[in-house]
Amino acid sequence: MRSRINPLIAGNWKMHNHPAESRDLVNKLLVLAGDVPDREVILIPPFTSLPIVSEAIRNTRFKLGGQNMHWEKKGAFTGEVSGVFLKSLGCEYVLVGHSERRHVMGETDEQINRKLKTALEIGLISIFCVGETGKERDESRTEAVITRQLELGLKDIRDEVHKIVIAYEPVWAIGTGKTATPQQAVEVHQMIRRQFAKPVTILYGGSVKADNIDTLMAEKDLNGVLVGGASLKPEEFARIIKYVNP
Ligand code: PEP
Repeated sequence: MRSRINPLIAGNWKMHNHPAESRDLVNKLLVLAGDVPDREVILIPPFTSLPIVSEAIRNTRFKLGGQNMHWEKKGAFTGEVSGVFLKSLGCEYVLVGHSERRHVMGETDEQINRKLKTALEIGLISIFCVGETGKERDESRTEAVITRQLELGLKDIRDEVHKIVIAYEPVWAIGTGKTATPQQAVEVHQMIRRQFAKPVTILYGGSVKADNIDTLMAEKDLNGVLVGGASLKPEEFARIIKYVNP
């Protein structure tokens, strides 16, 4: 069941684009896909580009998100960014627990839980990423891994899951060009939904491209997509935003 009316299309720019490049990209996207009425488009640039993108999308349909935040609101945490600062720059969303944070930066379920709690407290909508590695899938541990990520990540805040967006991002599909089949994505989305009494919003992420978006979004279980590499190419991301309704 969809728990939102408009599908979410989020573009994670990762560590790409300095501010001037970000301005060019957002301006192109606004021309190509700035007026699609029934999609919620979220741009997630690097921190250094948030001010310029925030300014460019003022009074447009596009929304802004941060790629990460610290669980404390302020303090002696050199190199970290507060969710309060993200909000002050116009962010409504924040990525929490992206697989590159988990697997490259060593972020733990416990840290992710603290971040999700702080985001709820300050009114940022978390896009909470979960997903299994290729090895875990091969060992038939997908359900166990995702159940653990959800249990620990949402410890003490399960009742507030409707204020959070979950992104199912199989690690083996991120940046690899290997997309989960619609069937694989739906199976995991349904498994996640069964774990909650309330409706949840679930995005799929992992090598989403212009040539697979229509097939993926034909599945009613997908409330939208989280796009990495393809969100850096204006024509391609515009085509993803304008996916053809089944
Ligand atoms: C991501 O960064 O969340 C992602 C899904 O990347 P890609 O689309 O490049 O696989």
